[in-house]
Amino acid sequence: MKKLLCVFFALLFLAGCAPKTPKAQRDIFAMDTLMSLQLWGEDADAAAEDVEAMLHHLEARWSVTREDSITAGLNRGIRPEMTPQELALLSEVEALYRRTGGAFNPYLGEVSRLWGFYDKNYRVPDAQECFLAIQAGMLDMGAALKGYAGDRAVEILEELDVERAILNLGGNIQTYGHKPGGEPWKIGIADPIRGGTLGVVAVEGTMSIVTSGSYQRYFEQDGVRYHHIMDGATGAPADSGLVSVTVISRSGLTADALSTALFVMGLEEAAAFWRQSEDFEAVFVLADGTVYATAGANLSGCAYQEISS
Ligand code: AMP
Ligand code: MG
Repeated sequence: MKKLLCVFFALLFLAGCAPKTPKAQRDIFAMDTLMSLQLWGEDADAAAEDVEAMLHHLEARWSVTREDSITAGLNRGIRPEMTPQELALLSEVEALYRRTGGAFNPYLGEVSRLWGFYDKNYRVPDAQECFLAIQAGMLDMGAALKGYAGDRAVEILEELDVERAILNLGGNIQTYGHKPGGEPWKIGIADPIRGGTLGVVAVEGTMSIVTSGSYQRYFEQDGVRYHHIMDGATGAPADSGLVSVTVISRSGLTADALSTALFVMGLEEAAAFWRQSEDFEAVFVLADGTVYATAGANLSGCAYQEISS
């Protein structure tokens, strides 16, 4: 008995001495939204510092409202200085615009401004104003930048000694590495109609989970809700029958651009687009609350219809 007790206390002592993985936790306000970082590993603190600096830098370079950003420069028709990496981002964004047939349209800045989404001075413009705003072709990286930031964060974590991390970049979730015991990351998807959590997607390793929804930013006038995701064909909020789209992809930039694009496309077109693609899975919520998920989305916790290939 005495021996057993000794072993028991020795084990307790050892458990107490086991080196704990250092953890860093940080809340940040960047890109007009709250972000939070949780990182585990020897370099967790240094990595959190670098990720925060990267987020502020990206915001300064691409903000549509900051006078000295690349975006503002391009929109004024001047040629801003750009690094090769910044030029590469612009060309990837252009490629996503073409790949989605213009459903992801980073040139609708004047449309968003017209409806008051930049200064919260909301109004419902007429069709002619909308048409002219589309023609303006004003760059706005708002539908892709947070996703791209997720990719850049992963690069930082890979260079440092970080075991795993989960980053909430204003609703865009970026996972990195594996949880202890090889468990998948479980990411809650917001219920766009009732609030709270709709269901959970399980993802392995490094992944980006991005939701676009009409519940995220909107105003109401005369009992009608006008949200912030614009249809480049009409210059008005997309009316596709969807209230939210979540995209799961290894690429944050792709997940972000496609969540916006699939929302504009609507369920049928989005399902066809998924069948001809290989780089993402998606969850769709319709205005009546019906949920659809692609075959590899790994959704649980709610009833849904599966979209098969
Ligand atoms: P997200 O929340 O990622 O769906 O992006 C929406 C934001 O991107 C809006 O607030 C606008 O700044 C911009 N935006 C609106 N409509 C579109 C669109 N169809 N394609 C690309 N960007 C858009
Ligand atoms: Mg987006």
